[in-house]
Amino acid sequence: MTDPLRTDADTEPDPGTGDEEARVIVVGAGPAGASAALYLARAGVDVLLLEKGSFPREKVCGDGLTPRGVHQLVRMGIDIDAPGWRRTRGMRWMCEGRQVHIDWPRLGGLPDFGLTRSRYDFDDILVRQACAAGARLRTEVKATGPLTDRAGRIVGVTAVAGADKQPRTYRAQVVVAADGASARTAIAMGLERDPTRQIATAARRYYRSASRTNDPYLELWADLRCSRTGRDLPGYGWIFPLGDGRVNVGLGSLPHRRHGAVDLRASMEQWLARLPEEWGLREENADSPLRSAALPMGFNRRPQYARGLLLVGDSAGMISPWSGEGVAQAMEAGGVAAEAVALALIRPEGPAREEALRQYPREINRLWGRYYRLGNHAADLVLGQYGYRPVLNRRVMASPVLVRSLARLLTHGADEPGHDTIDAVLHTLLRLVPTPALTRGPRRRRASSPS
Ligand SMILES: Cc1cc2nc3c(=O)[nH]c(=O)nc-3n(C[C@H](O)[C@H](O)[C@H](O)COP(=O)(O)OP(=O)(O)OC[C@H]3O[C@@H](n4cnc5c(N)ncnc54)[C@H](O)[C@@H]3O)c2cc1C
Repeated sequence: MTDPLRTDADTEPDPGTGDEEARVIVVGAGPAGASAALYLARAGVDVLLLEKGSFPREKVCGDGLTPRGVHQLVRMGIDIDAPGWRRTRGMRWMCEGRQVHIDWPRLGGLPDFGLTRSRYDFDDILVRQACAAGARLRTEVKATGPLTDRAGRIVGVTAVAGADKQPRTYRAQVVVAADGASARTAIAMGLERDPTRQIATAARRYYRSASRTNDPYLELWADLRCSRTGRDLPGYGWIFPLGDGRVNVGLGSLPHRRHGAVDLRASMEQWLARLPEEWGLREENADSPLRSAALPMGFNRRPQYARGLLLVGDSAGMISPWSGEGVAQAMEAGGVAAEAVALALIRPEGPAREEALRQYPREINRLWGRYYRLGNHAADLVLGQYGYRPVLNRRVMASPVLVRSLARLLTHGADEPGHDTIDAVLHTLLRLVPTPALTRGPRRRRASSPS
């Protein structure tokens, strides 16, 4: 019997043009794309993963994973006991001279540790896993736009390949956009950003620090100030240990509601100058330039499925509005998208398949809709105005129950079904939040260039 999901005759590039076909194309091989490709390949789907860069490669990130991210790595079959992975015991929040340690909870459904690893080879490991499962990877292939049929449905992408930018065409029945914050594929298909949602920016730099590199905690600073206005920074600073002699130090912030963009570089310099000399977070110990990038959060691009295209990870603004964490979310959404696509492809083309693909945003909404909606409100009302300082006030920091509850809320770390009273309270809180509509917000244009 032939496998309905594979099209083996088409898995070789056209010898003349280099053009290729697959059942599914995934654009972008970050955590979202690697995860989607891995789960599709595991389901036996012929999948082509297109990546504009090549691996290993740098990606501006804090390199920190909460237990939710560890859970996703374990699901993907990544060997997290191999060298290079550094386990963390919990978070340490610092605020106005006070500090509180919050160990990752011992729950049934999530690991009780976090991890750090530089994104320099983190993405490479995930992509190798996807290839080992059967995904076809093409690096140095930059998707330049969607190919659409007369109805405006995506049927592949155009691209340029290699150093000499050879024009290529890649065709598929379904396309997954996992091209990160640029969201180039989504934008070209007319899926625009919700302008009411703010985009945070974050900057990070590596430092050599013998005294901090083996810290068992992710350290977060809540009382930073915006260098320009002197006001509370609507974000936080971090020092994440990498265990290889280095720490990843950074700062992320929403734009200040009334005072506009935050100068990340100057605000970071001001903060680092406050830190003890012996930590070594000084210019002479810097191991990289300061690099910054955008953090699209709070589901800022919807719908997450339209006309053959699924949006996954940063391309859909899936970074948590509570914490700025996006790697776990990208990997988890990749899995949800892959399952929806695999189930859709066993249906005949047409309305039945379409209905199965529409299950992807519904499932994401079921899993995270209320949490993100509440997080967006929290960002609008508190975090985006005053940052985390008022939240981590003296009373909260002195109460073990309150800090543990806050930590689980910020990291989406409650067990499902609830494990203890804190989980029960958080689940009740989320049940009170109305489920968001699936397609509210952004205006939709038609894609520009039918093929
Ligand atoms: C400074 C900073 C610190 C952060 N710290 C953390 C943290 O500590 N923990 C955490 O969980 N999250 C963190 N995040 C967020 C996290 O980095 C992202 O949410 C995550 O990388 C999203 O994964 P993704 O696969 O959706 O996108 P990306 O990781 O951006 O991957 C997109 C991929 O698509 C490729 N691509 C783009 N355009 C094209 C194209 N046209 N054709 C082909 N390929 C293309 C890119 O080269 C890239 O490989 C941080 C972000 C920033 C900016």
